Amino acid sequence: MTDFPHTTRLVDRFGRIVNYLRVSITDRCDFRCVYCMAEDMVFLPRGQILSLEEIQFICRAFVELGVGKIRITGGEPLVRKGALGLLQQIGQLPGLQELVMTSNGSKLARMADDLKAAGVKRVNISLDTLDPVKFKVLTRTGDLENVLKGINAARDAGFERIKINAVILKNRNHQEVADLVQFAVDRGLDISFIEEMPLGTVDSHNRADAYYPSQLIKQDLQQRFDLVAVPDKTGGPSDYFQVSGSDSRVGFISPHSANFCASCNRVRLTAEGRLLLCLGNEHSVDLKAVVRQYPGDIEALKQAIITAMRIKPEKHEFNIHEQPVILRHMSATGG
Ligand code: SAM
Ligand code: SF4
Repeated sequence: MTDFPHTTRLVDRFGRIVNYLRVSITDRCDFRCVYCMAEDMVFLPRGQILSLEEIQFICRAFVELGVGKIRITGGEPLVRKGALGLLQQIGQLPGLQELVMTSNGSKLARMADDLKAAGVKRVNISLDTLDPVKFKVLTRTGDLENVLKGINAARDAGFERIKINAVILKNRNHQEVADLVQFAVDRGLDISFIEEMPLGTVDSHNRADAYYPSQLIKQDLQQRFDLVAVPDKTGGPSDYFQVSGSDSRVGFISPHSANFCASCNRVRLTAEGRLLLCLGNEHSVDLKAVVRQYPGDIEALKQAIITAMRIKPEKHEFNIHEQPVILRHMSATGG
């Protein structure tokens, strides 16, 4: 990818530079993870979501404004028809330094090589348990064996620093954190543990009861591993630790117990074209309306994006002890 002479930077009221865009290319998914979705989800009508061309156009505007990193996510990004072609096009945008993706792994066994060839640099793959029965309970429709094959395929394809994402719920999978780290260490992968966030209503559990703080996960891990703090180079919300004697790092994403908002460098584009300025707030701008009102006018779109930075909130408003104030699910948001 070539360098691009950026003249404009995206900066918010608090002086934070936005250089990272996450894009949900579909709200649909082949899994129904209990922390992410209700069992009988109603998805957006197809006409309401951005076309592939609109997504590519919006990504181009962001890159021209100085965004160097784009993460493609969802829902499950790989269930969207045409996802691969879209990734190829985004991967070729002049000035983009990093195209990365988050996936549940279900389609990686057959798509990993093509994704690598399309220019995807790194993949995060979700894996909350190594027990096939628990996996079925947590994802409702997923198959562990298939995801493990996907992880192997991603390794064989040669992606840099594959990362496992695990959402930890008390009494569901908290007992497995050390086994998950061992799984990552044995394969030279990184792993991040994520505290559950109250996005949308879920019907399988009470989020406050299922809360298992990062601090406890860390204590559990320290019984089996020596964890050495490493400085975060990503500007992201994770606290990172090196597992001594291995190539693997363990990250903790702790929206409840640690506030990472001061260094926030990212915004999110939902599948229906809403630019979300913060994961834990509803402040947004309808970019679909802009691209449909001014088709092909990239300057109008860029101006709307620059103006949107003024309403990026200072911090998120998560509180797991209250009814969710954020009604959208993570799948609609683009985690
Ligand atoms: N389908 C892909 C996957 O599962 O990796 C990508 C989208 S998913 C919404 C992105 C990440 O968000 C996953 O790692 C998932 O575990 C996490 N996630 C979903 N709902 C969450 C919630 N309520 N709290 C915290 N993390 C959540
Ligand atoms: Fe699908 Fe990912 Fe949400 Fe699970 S976490 S339901 S795999 S979008």
